[in-house]
Amino acid sequence: MTERTRLTRKPERGDDDPAVLRRLLDEARVAHVAFVRRGCPVVLPMAFGREGNRLFLHGSTGAGAFLASREGLDVSVAVTHLDGLVFARSAFDSSMNYRSAVIFGRAVPVPAEGKQDALRAVTEHLMPGRWGEVRPLTAKELAATTVLELPLDEVSVKVRAAGPGEDPEDGEDRSVWAGVVPVRTVVGVPERSPLTNPALPLPGSVASLL
Ligand SMILES: Cc1cc2nc3c(=O)[nH]c(=O)nc-3n(C[C@H](O)[C@H](O)[C@H](O)COP(=O)(O)OP(=O)(O)OC[C@H]3O[C@@H](n4cnc5c(N)ncnc54)[C@H](O)[C@@H]3O)c2cc1C
Repeated sequence: MTERTRLTRKPERGDDDPAVLRRLLDEARVAHVAFVRRGCPVVLPMAFGREGNRLFLHGSTGAGAFLASREGLDVSVAVTHLDGLVFARSAFDSSMNYRSAVIFGRAVPVPAEGKQDALRAVTEHLMPGRWGEVRPLTAKELAATTVLELPLDEVSVKVRAAGPGEDPEDGEDRSVWAGVVPVRTVVGVPERSPLTNPALPLPGSVASLL
């Protein structure tokens, strides 16, 4: 907890259990990475990986200022799960159930000797089991990829998991439906690429998603 990560509103929704943070990150596929570019705030959606206390971000060496920064860059990263739409009896009290994390820190380039492991973490995060099913990265691919790491040292987690709030002034009026509609991310039926032998069974990485 730092001055930057202190929740102002609804601090009771904060959760400092590291296991909650790890699960929240490990179940997410997308992080939104914010930084300041030439004086202007920018937010980019990105894939990520986690290993222990480190979050990895990766991209082309040809990408913009963020990945090109050799000295690293101060960032704020948000990872969010929308778990439900909360329908209250008033628009004012309507809300969402969610789990979200906000991370602050300096994202710095991973040195060459650590890049392969960091990229494995990103790949395995996105598609568990895939790393062992595909050919190894080539030296050219490694050289074309920048990987940044961010320590998970300055983090806040906020969780809402409840029914609708009620305004006492709405009294006993039961004429408006209220409740929670859970929201889930689901995968669809896999679509084989034309370059795939139709006789091949689904690999473990794909089958495990279904
Ligand atoms: C899916 C989703 C939708 C939301 N929609 C709205 C909305 O429409 N309007 C609205 O006002 N709020 C919304 N929130 C809540 C919003 O994220 C803030 O928590 C809220 O604005 C109160 O901020 P604050 O004044 O307490 O935080 P601030 O004082 O602005 O922030 C202080 C610190 O608290 C931490 N923090 C704040 N919010 C979060 C969070 N959600 N997760 C983790 N750490 C956090 C950060 O470290 C931040 O630096 C939404 C949250 C989620 C997950």
